[in-house]
Amino acid sequence: MAIAEFNLIDQFFTRPAEGKNIHLSIGDDCALLSVPEGYELAITVDTMVENVHFFPDVTAEQLGHKLLAVNLSDLASMGAEPIAITLALTMPRVDSLWLQGFAQALFALADKYKLDLIGGDTTSGPLTLSIQAMGLVPENQALKRSSAKVGDLIYVTGSIGDAGLGLRVKQGYSGLGDKLALQRLHKPNPRIGEGLAIRPLANACIDISDGLAADLGHILHKSSVGARLDYAQIPLSDAVEDYIKQTGDWQMPLVAGDDYELCFTIGAENVGKLDIACSCIGIIEQERGLRITHQGKTSFFNESGFEHFNDDR
Ligand code: ADP
Ligand code: MG
Repeated sequence: MAIAEFNLIDQFFTRPAEGKNIHLSIGDDCALLSVPEGYELAITVDTMVENVHFFPDVTAEQLGHKLLAVNLSDLASMGAEPIAITLALTMPRVDSLWLQGFAQALFALADKYKLDLIGGDTTSGPLTLSIQAMGLVPENQALKRSSAKVGDLIYVTGSIGDAGLGLRVKQGYSGLGDKLALQRLHKPNPRIGEGLAIRPLANACIDISDGLAADLGHILHKSSVGARLDYAQIPLSDAVEDYIKQTGDWQMPLVAGDDYELCFTIGAENVGKLDIACSCIGIIEQERGLRITHQGKTSFFNESGFEHFNDDR
């Protein structure tokens, strides 16, 4: 470890760990943590590479927030409660101002969920940022992709397509609600509370990172089922509604990623117990594939997007 690295970790990333399961934090070769009796440790890692996952003009604050948020979103989708993260930073140079902004935004979100940064790695190279997040979930209660049942209702939290609209705004589109759309793109809100609330009720869950259709597709594939969605029930913001009116691009909310909302399936008997803001958008069916009814016509989703059926299934 170079002196510069030591100073950098001390200056920007070392804080006393607060969590009762953390026995040793930053400063040794490994961190140590315990998993309480009756719980499982949920672990996920996500990497963001400059020019691949983010534009060079994105601010350090935006990156610090988003890198943690996307990882917490994975914990949310399993119904796990975050406890700790590790951080791997690869940077072309040590830029104190950048590190300060990055650390400030990262810790602001970490503090919201009372989780500790317990270790990491710092290297020199093209800007590449990774967080590994760890959470606790009671044994055998994690929400998996593979447990959707025929007849389950399909729900999503929040509204869909706003981050996709934000990307289009970055690419030159301008319309209603541009600011909000950019905010949704840069500052996703991990649905931790919602994940915990639905854990005892839902059968399957995923977070929407690659697009509603693709991510719901993962649930369908893993659960060996199909689904039908009613487009009119998909929650769209005024800005996205307006975008669709202006462009005719109604498929955008289905195929655009980065919303980090939860999509979950739940048996009808549990729907009455839901006490989070969410919308029912469809139903799990035996027949494989993803069908969607839009303005009276049914389309079928595949790798290249949605195709209109010839018959009226
Ligand atoms: P080693 O060479 O044994 O892997 P390092 O010199 O890389 O250890 O790191 C020293 C300590 O600082 C370790 O506890 C490590 O987890 C922590 N650390 C290194 N980089 C970061 C970082 N970017 N964020 C948080 N902790 C870090
Ligand atoms: Mg070591």
